[in-house]
Amino acid sequence: MKTRIAILPGDGIGPEIMPQAVRVLEAIGQVSGHTFELTSAQVGGAAIDATGFPLPQETLELAKASDAVLLGAVGGPKWEGLDYERRPERALLGLREQLGLFANLRPAKMYAPLIEASSLKPDIIDGIDVLVVRELTGGIYFGKPKGIEEIANGHRGFNTEVYTTEEIHRIAKVAFQAAQKRRGLVHSIDKANVLESSELWRREVIKVHQNFSDVELRHMYVDNCAMQLVRYPKQFDVIVTTNLFGDILSDEAAMLTGSIGMLPSASVGATVGMFEPIHGSAPDIAGKNLANPIGMMASVAMMLTYACDLPKEAQLIETAIQKTLEQSYRTKDIEGPGTTLLGTREMGDQIVKQLKELVA
Ligand code: NAD
Repeated sequence: MKTRIAILPGDGIGPEIMPQAVRVLEAIGQVSGHTFELTSAQVGGAAIDATGFPLPQETLELAKASDAVLLGAVGGPKWEGLDYERRPERALLGLREQLGLFANLRPAKMYAPLIEASSLKPDIIDGIDVLVVRELTGGIYFGKPKGIEEIANGHRGFNTEVYTTEEIHRIAKVAFQAAQKRRGLVHSIDKANVLESSELWRREVIKVHQNFSDVELRHMYVDNCAMQLVRYPKQFDVIVTTNLFGDILSDEAAMLTGSIGMLPSASVGATVGMFEPIHGSAPDIAGKNLANPIGMMASVAMMLTYACDLPKEAQLIETAIQKTLEQSYRTKDIEGPGTTLLGTREMGDQIVKQLKELVA
């Protein structure tokens, strides 16, 4: 088996964390017999500097011709003065649109050794493992009409929350399929007591569920879900929701675990998936060997699960991260009393070492 992967390090800490992901991938390649063909390209600010465009045609072609895209992060103060259309972040929107990435998967998983890093009590968050499946290309962020118009006594701003049957069916299917690989429970989040688009959402999710009898489906209103996530997060396995609700709930779920540097994400849809840490380019720590590479390395694990059908190898990476944390190794963002502080590269060394020991 061979997987072609586009490697897009991007800006800021991107070029520091990406080599750690590549090392993990090489180690997995050696033990699994799976071949990973890696090709690097520029994206974001680095691409603007080199070509004038955040998503050069060459990078887009490479992404389209790959089986998966592994992305670091884009953006930084150097490019903040540019036109919105020319900014590094446009590359992300371009990739999502061009690759048809309509589903964003964001796990929030508690690594036991980091339990003190969360703002919630340990007994509430111990063992949480939630996956938020957010619809990414529809809903109120894209619905029309939208705009700001003049009215007699000022202005009127408006957006449209809109979902079609097809959009709901395809995202619901992603959620049910993900639940089949996990604990078999989906919470569909909506506001069906107020919004017609949510009423349709709920009706269509129920229809899709008929093809997934091995998965349990529950419905919850979004305001209740926001509350339940901090009250009793262990009740959730997979959460599926709209673009707007998912934007908010996935950040809330992520923060249960304490550190932004730890969490991966996957965007999937048509044939090519994109895998990246949830954080940005962290310009404040870039170039200092301070960045936590775990979110990036865990993104490789997501890629193995969702793009390569190698769930066992993905679990090996998760276990290697867990064991490294158990041995009290920490990067600066998760440092605490009695821990050993490591730089980005050295944290990568420890995780790769653990990985090699696990498969020896
Ligand atoms: P950020 O996620 O880059 O940083 C927020 C804070 O978290 C900073 O203090 C940073 O040092 C810290 N942090 C982030 N990742 C870390 C890691 N791996 N290890 C340790 N600490 C880490 O968010 P921001 O500061 O709002 O944005 C910076 C730039 O990144 C902006 O240009 C923004 O547009 C861009 N951005 C890009 C993406 C992306 O590429 N997907 C996502 C969000 C923001």
